[in-house]
Amino acid sequence: MRFCFCGLLVGSALPFAQLIAAPPPAPPPAPPDADSGPQLPGYSGMVDRSINPCDDFYKYACGTWLKNNPIPPDRSRWARFDELQERNETILRAILEKDAGQPDSGSAIDRKIGTFYGACVDVATVDRKGLEPLQPEFDRIRAIHDLPSLSAEVARLQRMGVDAVFSTGSGQDFKDATKVIANLDQGGLGLPERDYYFKTDPTSVDLREKYVKHVARMFELMGEPAEKAAADAATVMKMETQLAKASMDVTSRRDPANVYHPMTPEKVAALAPAFDWKLFLPAVHAEGQSINVAAPDFFTGMGAMLNRLSFDDWKTYLTWHLLHAEARLLPTKFVDENFNFYAKTLTGQKEQQPRWKRCVRLTDSDLGEALGQAYVQQTFGSEGKARTLKIVNDIEAAMQQDLETVDWMTPQTRKLALEKLHAVANKIGYPDKWRDYSKVEVLPGDLVGNDERATEFEFDRQMAKIGKPVDKTEWGMTPPTVNAYYDPQMNNINFPAGILQPPFYTASSDFATNYGAVGAVVGHELTHGFDDQGRQFDAAGNFTDWWQPEDAKAYETRAKCIEDEYGNFQVAPDVKENGKLTEGENIADNGGLRLAYAAFTKLMAGDKLTDVDGYTPQQRFFLGFAGMWCTNDTPQARRLQAATNPHSLSEFRVNGTLVNMPEFAQAWSCKVGQPMAPKTNCRVW
Ligand SMILES: [Zn+2]
Repeated sequence: MRFCFCGLLVGSALPFAQLIAAPPPAPPPAPPDADSGPQLPGYSGMVDRSINPCDDFYKYACGTWLKNNPIPPDRSRWARFDELQERNETILRAILEKDAGQPDSGSAIDRKIGTFYGACVDVATVDRKGLEPLQPEFDRIRAIHDLPSLSAEVARLQRMGVDAVFSTGSGQDFKDATKVIANLDQGGLGLPERDYYFKTDPTSVDLREKYVKHVARMFELMGEPAEKAAADAATVMKMETQLAKASMDVTSRRDPANVYHPMTPEKVAALAPAFDWKLFLPAVHAEGQSINVAAPDFFTGMGAMLNRLSFDDWKTYLTWHLLHAEARLLPTKFVDENFNFYAKTLTGQKEQQPRWKRCVRLTDSDLGEALGQAYVQQTFGSEGKARTLKIVNDIEAAMQQDLETVDWMTPQTRKLALEKLHAVANKIGYPDKWRDYSKVEVLPGDLVGNDERATEFEFDRQMAKIGKPVDKTEWGMTPPTVNAYYDPQMNNINFPAGILQPPFYTASSDFATNYGAVGAVVGHELTHGFDDQGRQFDAAGNFTDWWQPEDAKAYETRAKCIEDEYGNFQVAPDVKENGKLTEGENIADNGGLRLAYAAFTKLMAGDKLTDVDGYTPQQRFFLGFAGMWCTNDTPQARRLQAATNPHSLSEFRVNGTLVNMPEFAQAWSCKVGQPMAPKTNCRVW
């Protein structure tokens, strides 16, 4: 496990791994031809001039786009991000279909990704095989008869990517970023987050009932009589509720101190003595004398469950999680049932995405750095790297200026903050050295086996890092990904080639628009190094308090203002944003836009821009920023995002940030007291 700092620019509305890989969102009409370049809407396709920009800038900047871009039936959200992702997937599809169509030619990599994709789109073979590819695993679960055989099967399933009871991985030691140690964390739930098991509002109660019905239907599809399936589903719900009770909530997990508990294997064993750790730890390659147990209470709870529950209960629970994790790779009836609950009910998506799209994503997820090579050749090139580096350097210079001049910091803290900034490494586009998948066997007509081998390869690769020097060149996202991240333990910012394209970076636009868009993205990631989590890690990536107490206090007062501001935004009539959960992302949005604006202003001093379409350069900067966030989403997707995702909804990412910038009010001649120009505002960076 890598401790995810949610440095991501935009989170998927889908909360957990199985779902992300499952039938995901899809496109509206025919996607644009990859060769013809993107069709950009221009201001007339974006802006709604009937709205006063000082009343609601998001609606002003996005109004026409929002009207013209309803949510397609096979998505729960349609945003500018998705337009770009759509284009990327079309490019990937062309690469994969060419490779799949020529199984005997091309390089070893071409053949591997082509065969993988070919097996995935071959629904006839998948349907014909039924559950046969999983039969050996079902048999192993059925043979569980004591604690050692249960512990061994949990290890096997985890290596296959099944979320069996808890999760195992590796990561840098919080207090010593040069060391990689094993991580054990809570897990094993089928609903998105622990609170889903306990909330008492009608929507949540209804969702739990639907979940239990879904679990029962999956058991029925594998051949159980209805009565037994219903009883098994009740057992799953009972056990997951107990696991959820022992779990830490998503907001508490944002505090690094809450998820850092290094201990010896003996101490781990003492948390849940009934589990066979002597057998389990070597089976998952969790070497070493120090293991981080992110959520110790969870393991205590799990230990108590082992004493209390029958092996039959555990077998039922593990069978469900195996079925659940593999559902997207199984015959159509399982895929459909999985879609019905996890997409239709949970996110409001009406139809499934076409098979090819799901298979493109699965290939990207399992063999991403093999597929990414051809993508980068077609889309990025060396000039892509150079133009991005220029923007990154400008934004870093703006951050330096900010750190040198903020009036609330003592010289000691300021010095260390500057040291941290100077130590940030920039990773742009794609890895210098590509991952070698030669050990992953990929066979025609073997979708389940191919995915299983690729997943085990990745699991073992992660665990093999324990005790070895940290590889700082490694990427946590594949090149076509439309996203970006900051990693506090590596102290680096990462921008995959997938996001460095329109509407984030548009070669034909002037720097006003580009700095408002990609400039704000770069600023966002850089600011993560100094948000409420990131500031707790030093230049070397160690979790340590390098702040003078009075500076920490000043910081917290400023951050609280942001927390309160966003905590008041209304997601649904009965739901508000969680100001604490979204605090780090909101600080990054606010700081990032300010840095981008400072860099833009500096450029303007040397290269005056003229008005375009009646908009000043300053106005175009803010239109560029708002324009990348235009989003239509279902009520279900909004609820899910607010409950589980550290990113605020798009309209708040725009308006919540802009109301804190007097430069915005000035650019649009808003008067103090208008909604977009409040009398008081918040500022951290
Ligand atoms: Zn972020």
